[in-house]
Amino acid sequence: MVKQTPVSVGWQTLFAVLPYIWLFAFYRIEKLRMSILILLVGFGISIVVLSILPFAYSFGLALIVTIPLSIYFIRKWSKDWNVKIQKSSSQIIPDETQFWVCPDCGGDTQAKNEKQFCSKCNVYL
Ligand SMILES: [Zn+2]
Repeated sequence: MVKQTPVSVGWQTLFAVLPYIWLFAFYRIEKLRMSILILLVGFGISIVVLSILPFAYSFGLALIVTIPLSIYFIRKWSKDWNVKIQKSSSQIIPDETQFWVCPDCGGDTQAKNEKQFCSKCNVYL
C-alpha cells in the first residue's frame, strides 16, 4: 500500500527524468503500470525508428519522446493524486462544523425542510 500523502509536484517532475528513480515517482502516486506503458511507447518508437536510423539515433529519439511524456503525466497525475488525498482526508474529518456554517456569510444555518438554510443569505445550502 502506497503512503497516502500529498507529493511535491516539483520533486516529482525532477524524479520523473532520473533513471530508475522515475519508477519510484510513478509508484508513489500509484501509477506504476501507466509508467511502464509510457516506457513501452518509448521502446516501440525506438524499435520502429531502428529500422530506419542507427541505434544511437533511435534511442535518442525514444528519450526525446519519453521524457516530455513522463514530465507531462507525472505533473498531471501528481496533481490529481494530491486532490484525491485532500478529498479522502477531508472525508475522515467529520464535516459537521462545515455543514452547519454558511459558506457565504459564515453564519449559523438552520435545518429547514430537511435542508440547511441560511437565514442571513436567505438560501438553502
Ligand atoms: Zn449565509
